[in-house]
Amino acid sequence: LIDEKNKFYEINKETARFFFSNLTKNESGLNYLYNRKINNKTIKQFGLGYSLNKWDDLYKYLKFRGYKEADAQKLGLIGKKSSNDGYYDKFRNRIMFPIIDTKGRVIGFGGRVLDNSMPKYLNSQETPVFNKGEHLYGLNLVNKFSDKKRIILVEGYMDVIALFSKGINCGVASLGTALTERQAKLLKRYGENVYICYDSDQAGINATDRAIEVLLKEEIEPKIINLGDYKDPDDFLKENSVDQFEKTINESFNHIDYRIHINKKKYNIDEAEGKIKFTIEIAKIIKRLKSPIEKDVYIEKISKEMNISKEAIEKEVFGNTIKHI
Ligand code: ATP
Ligand code: MN
Ligand code: MN
Ligand code: MN
Repeated sequence: LIDEKNKFYEINKETARFFFSNLTKNESGLNYLYNRKINNKTIKQFGLGYSLNKWDDLYKYLKFRGYKEADAQKLGLIGKKSSNDGYYDKFRNRIMFPIIDTKGRVIGFGGRVLDNSMPKYLNSQETPVFNKGEHLYGLNLVNKFSDKKRIILVEGYMDVIALFSKGINCGVASLGTALTERQAKLLKRYGENVYICYDSDQAGINATDRAIEVLLKEEIEPKIINLGDYKDPDDFLKENSVDQFEKTINESFNHIDYRIHINKKKYNIDEAEGKIKFTIEIAKIIKRLKSPIEKDVYIEKISKEMNISKEAIEKEVFGNTIKHI
C-alpha cells in the first residue's frame, strides 16, 4: 500500500514537472501570470505550470514514461472516453497549481482558465493520495518559511501566491471548500495567531462565519481581517503595499467585534425593529462566550452603543436564571 502511494506521488510529481516545462515554453500562460504580477521566482517557488490546449498531451507523456493508464485515471489526471476505449486529459488549457503537502509530495492539482470561461477552476478529485479536507494549499511553504507566529487563512490559490510573492510567508488556502476540523488543527499547529482573510463578497462572509465556528470548537480564537472594498487579498495587494496589508492585520477584529460589525451592516439599527433584531442577535453571541468577564464587557459595550439598559441585555443573555459573575 505504501508502495502504491509512492507510485501515485511519483506520477503526480512527473506531471507537475511536465506542466512546469510546458509553461516555460508557453507565451499565453506566462503572459497571463506576468499580467497578474507573478514573476519567474514565484512561478518556481509554487511550481506553477500549464496544461496545453490538447486532448492527449499529458496522457501521451505519461504513457511514454511507462505509467499505467489506470493509475493516471485514479489520480484524476486522465479520464476514459465514453465513445471508445481511449483516454483524454482532464486538465486542458489551464494554469496549473500543484498542491504539495508538508513532506514535499504532490498530492493534487488545481487548474485555472486564462479567460472568463467556466468552470474558472478545476481541482483534482479525491484520490488515494488527495483528501481535500486534510490539507491546506501553501502549508508546505509555510512550514518552510514562516516563523509560525501567525497564519492567514485565505480562499484561493492566487491569494496565497500574492501573499508569498510580497514576502508575507504565512498564507494558506482552504480552496473554496468549507473549513474542516482537520484543517483547523493544522492552522493551530502552524500559527500562534490565526487570521481569517476570506473574500469580501457574500460567499466569503458566509464562509467566514462557518470558519469562526469550526475554529472556536478547536479552541482557536481567530482574528478577522477586513479588506474594505477589495475583493480578496490578491486584489488588495495589487493596489496596496505590504505595510498597508500589515495595517489591516493590526486592525483585524476579534470574532465578536467582527460579528457586531457584520450585523450592524445587516440590520438598520437606526430603527426600533433593526435595533431589537441586532441586539438579540448579538446577545446570542455573547451568551456563548466562556468568560464571564468577557460577557460583561460586551454587554456593557452593546448597552452603551444601542442605548439599551444593561439589565435588559443581561436578561436576554442569561434568561431568567441568576447570573453567576
Ligand atoms: P481569481 O483571482 O483567479 O479569479 P479567486 O481565487 O479569487 O480566483 P474565487 O472565485 O474567489 O477565485 O475562488 C476561491 C477558490 O475557490 C479558488 O482558488 C478555487 O480553489 C476555488 N474555486 C473557485 N471556483 C471554483 C470552481 N468553479 N470549482 C472548483 N473550485 C473553485
Ligand atoms: Mn471567492
Ligand atoms: Mn477570490
Ligand atoms: Mn482573486
